Amino acid sequence: MKILIIEDEKKVARFLKLGLEAEHHQVDNSFDGESGEKLALAREYDVIVLDIMLPGKNGIEVLKSIRKSGRSTPVLILTAKGTLEDKVEGLDEGADDYLVKPFAFAEFIARVRSLGRRSGADKSTVLRVADLELDTMKRKAKRGDREIELTNREYALLEYFVRNANRVLTRTLISEHIWEYNFDTGTNIVEVYVNKLRKKIDSDSTNKLIHTVRGAGYMMKIE
Ligand code: CA
Repeated sequence: MKILIIEDEKKVARFLKLGLEAEHHQVDNSFDGESGEKLALAREYDVIVLDIMLPGKNGIEVLKSIRKSGRSTPVLILTAKGTLEDKVEGLDEGADDYLVKPFAFAEFIARVRSLGRRSGADKSTVLRVADLELDTMKRKAKRGDREIELTNREYALLEYFVRNANRVLTRTLISEHIWEYNFDTGTNIVEVYVNKLRKKIDSDSTNKLIHTVRGAGYMMKIE
């Protein structure tokens, strides 16, 4: 994706840029409101990351002008702690999401990705968790260099896990999603499928991805 970061704290800006580039995004930096606004209006971006407190024009003014120009580019605003009014004003003026500083990079990247998806910019069909790779077009899975043979149902279950990484998926959620109905209590089909999938995904790797959350369900995560 093409991403514009308007942020005057150069350390933060550089850190975000490097992190996004590591994920194969193209990033432009702008360190004040006016030049940021110019870039936002002159070029096409898939996501704009906009700090509120900026020299020259502040983020809210920049946001207003982006929206006034008719652009619906997703905007993620960055606000300092305790400036709730900024956040509310930002959302009122058409920001799509906000993040309160200081934030973790993982959180940042998740928000940017989700905004990209919303705008349809992220046309990549490859999903990744650690060295697990899913091609959602070809419906194929790989762990490192190893191709994994999956039945349709197993693939559907794996894609569901990957799309919901770091979230607990209850047996009910899984059965509703994968089989579109809820099994009678006492059926262990979800367990059976999860275990089959585990064998294929995790058995050859020391880095297990599918975890049991006792009393709750399952979670895909990197340990
Ligand atoms: Ca700032």
